This record gives sequence, C-alpha cells and structure tokens, in this order.
Amino acid sequence: MQISSKKFIAGSQEWCCLPNLDVAAVKVRVDSGAKTSSIHAFNIEPFTRNSEQWVRFDLHPLQKSRRATIRCESPVIDRRLVRSSNGNSEKRFVIKTPLTLNGETWDIELSLTNRDAMGFRMLLGREAMSGKILVDIEKQFLLGSVSDDELELLYGKTMRNPDSGLKIGLLATNPDLYSNRRILEAGELLGHEMVFLNTRQCYMKLDADCPAVHYRDGRILNNLDAVIPRIRPSITFYGCAVTRHFESLGIFALNSADSITQSRDKLYSLQLLQKHGLDIPITGYADSPIDTDKLIEMVGGAPLIVKLLEGTQGRGVVLAETTKAAESVINAMKSLRANLLVQEYIEEASGKDIRCFMINGKVAAAIQREAAPGEFRANLHRGGKATLIELTPDEESLAIKAVKTLNLNVAGVDIIRSSRGPLLLEVNSSPGLEGIEAATGQDMACLMVKAIAEKLTAPAGHRTLDAA
Ligand code: ADP
Ligand code: MG
Repeated sequence: MQISSKKFIAGSQEWCCLPNLDVAAVKVRVDSGAKTSSIHAFNIEPFTRNSEQWVRFDLHPLQKSRRATIRCESPVIDRRLVRSSNGNSEKRFVIKTPLTLNGETWDIELSLTNRDAMGFRMLLGREAMSGKILVDIEKQFLLGSVSDDELELLYGKTMRNPDSGLKIGLLATNPDLYSNRRILEAGELLGHEMVFLNTRQCYMKLDADCPAVHYRDGRILNNLDAVIPRIRPSITFYGCAVTRHFESLGIFALNSADSITQSRDKLYSLQLLQKHGLDIPITGYADSPIDTDKLIEMVGGAPLIVKLLEGTQGRGVVLAETTKAAESVINAMKSLRANLLVQEYIEEASGKDIRCFMINGKVAAAIQREAAPGEFRANLHRGGKATLIELTPDEESLAIKAVKTLNLNVAGVDIIRSSRGPLLLEVNSSPGLEGIEAATGQDMACLMVKAIAEKLTAPAGHRTLDAA
C-alpha cells in the first residue's frame, strides 16, 4: 500500500497529548468507524469570557480510575446533538483544541461527555484524523506507550489516593444518630473529607447544560467523589431523587437510588427475591377485603403475620393468633387504605432472627437477635437482644444472593430459621450500626467507607453488583 509521507499508521489504541488542556497523556481509542471525537468530562460549567462562550470541566485522564483529576477550560465552538455508540442522543458542548500524536500537532473538535462507564477516556473519530492517520485495528500503541511510573510523574500532583483523600457526602437527616456519627468519624480517620448533608436541604437543578445539586447554605455539591445515602423511610421519595441526581452527575452512590427505592417496597422486593429463587415465608397480597378469607387460607391460616408494606423497626408488623383476629386486623387496616401483606408465621423461630450486615456482596458481620419476653419481633428497637452467631453455608449464600438480586452494596439482610431451612425476611438498605458494632466489636463504619474506595477503583461496570 502506498502511504503519502504525511500519513502515519496508528493502532486502535494510542497515547496522545492535549497540550492546551494540560492533558499530558491520555489513552485514546482510535476508531475510523466513528465520525466525531469525544472526551470524558464532568462538572461541565459554561461561562462567558470576553463575550465568548467558554466551558469549564473536570476530567479524569486515567482509564478506569478517578485518582487524577484535571480542571480544563476551553472556548465552545458548538452545541450538538451527538448519538453515542449505545444509540442514545445527547446534546453536548463541542470544543476545538490541539492534539499531539506521533510528534505532530493539529486542531481537532471534541465533544464533552461523561465517559466514565466506557473503556476509554477519549475517542478519536475519522474527522479528527484529518487524513493524517491510517488505522491498523489489529495493532496497539504503534506510536509508543506510557508506563505507570511515567503517569505517576505526569499526574502525581493531581493524584488522590482513593483510600484516603476522597470527598464523601453523608446524605442523611440527623448527624447525631449513632450510625451517622460513626460513618463521619470513620471516614475522617481514614483521611477522607466527610461532609454531612441534610437530605432535605439539598436541592436539584435539572438542566441539560449544567445539572447540579445545591445546598441550602449556597454550596454546589457537584465536586463530591461519592455519597453514602442513609435515607429515612419517611423521605424515601425525595432522598432517592437527590441520590439519583448525584448519580447523574457521575458521583458514586454507595447504594443507588434505584436499589433503595425497590428495597423500600416490601412486596416488590419479595417478588424480586422469589423470582430469583430465594426462599421466603409464604406471603399473600390482595387489593380487596373480599379476598381476605382466601388470603388467610393461602398462607396456612392463623396464627399469621400481617405487615404494612412500608413499615420498619418492627412497627407495622402484627401477629394475629386466631383467624378472627387476622380478619379483624386485615379488614381494619384495609379500611384505612393501608397496603399490607399477609405472611405465614414462623413459630419455630421462637422470636429469633438473624441480621447479616452485607458490604460489597460479602457478609461483614452477623448477629442473632432475640425478641424481648412476650414479643415475637426481634428488632433491637423493640428491645431485642443481639448475640454473635455463626452462619450456616445456606444462610450465607441466601444473604449473598439477596444483595445481588437487589443490587445493594451495603445492606442488612434479615433471615429467619424455619423448619424447612433459612427464609429471607427482608433487606434493609440503611442498616443500623449500633447493635451490630456493639455485639461484634467490629468497625462496620470503617468497612462501609472502605467499600467506596474498593468500588471506585474497580473497573466501570463492577461498581454495582450485577443482578444474579
Ligand atoms: P421491619 O421492617 O419492621 O423490621 P420485618 O419484616 O423485619 O419488619 O419484621 C420484624 C420482625 O418481626 C422480624 O425481625 C422478626 O423477628 C419478626 N417476623 C417478621 N416476619 C415474621 C414471620 N413471618 N414469622 C415470624 N416472625 C416474623
Ligand atoms: Mg426487619
């Protein structure tokens, strides 16, 4: 093949430099199949300078890592609707900036988009190749490579250690609650900057150009690395909306808004769990009081358990000892338009259940809770006593499957021991730390914060657990 002297051959991956953006080295996917080029950008903020439209943005130059961050500024040449490889269209800022590759420098157009989920921080399409590049898709780094040591030298100053030095928001209501105090304390001890955020004082700007989360005191919270949502059940809707907004800004949420939303609905999460083959107590749900008799029969008759769909800490869980009592409770609750489910009573558990504290898909600690005398609910808030317990392999595997199914990185999984083996009772997305830390002597708060660094350094796509 005749190649003009001006052209050179590049592999499908190369290292390039963007001198005007202070990006000394970034791995780029060279793809003549793509028309335009793009670069990873977040915290995108348009502004005016000398009557010209400019844009400021942050970018992580290193692939699959958020350790290094570079703040860039550039004039904007266009706003364009760009269709990405997943078929979605997105309105993006387009900048023009010099690119250096193979010792040559020329201007290219780059659209700005959050490429955090993609393999490469930058994509070089055919328009930017300016007839200079021929691509040999079978080869990589034909124009040289950059070692980890060189990257450390180039970006050392901007590098942060994800094990210490992140800015983490705790999204909760009361900073004095034991669990919240412990998380703030543990994060600071690990060297992170911990910011307590009252969920209700956060508000959101929905805007294609510069979406943001603001705080009542005037701060803009777009520069956090991660948030730990500890959303009260009473503000699930708003708390999940704020968490989702943080996620849309590219900020990692230890539990995603979607996973919290679905775990808060006891019926929906039980449906998901049973669909994935997890054993749960036989449960019935109906809309009309006309079906009450059949519902009672379906779960094996009295004694049985009636649960409000959105109750926690044992509130809204009632034991009906006789069929008459069951009918009265169900019909009374229905007449108040409450959503409730009916469940077989696991009598042989004798007021005991097991709480597994799950972090990043593993059991971090487990305790047995035993109800106070005269009580069947083992919740510590109802006076239950906690003791250390060794899980059986079946119990451990049930807990692991439960968090995978519900996609929660941090969760409390409640299991009850029945005569037909362990049954899954419920999964809590904001498990309390006090009881489990007191009974086990383990530092759950520290493990929770460490779980963030583990996820942030994991390859994209492994940040949340894949549903089994
Ligand atoms: P909450 O969200 O209010 O904690 P749970 O479903 O976890 O609701 O129930 C609270 C407690 O009631 C459990 O920890 C357990 O001790 C007891 N309990 C719940 N369901 C059953 C059941 N089907 N059989 C026996 N005890 C149960
Ligand atoms: Mg419970």
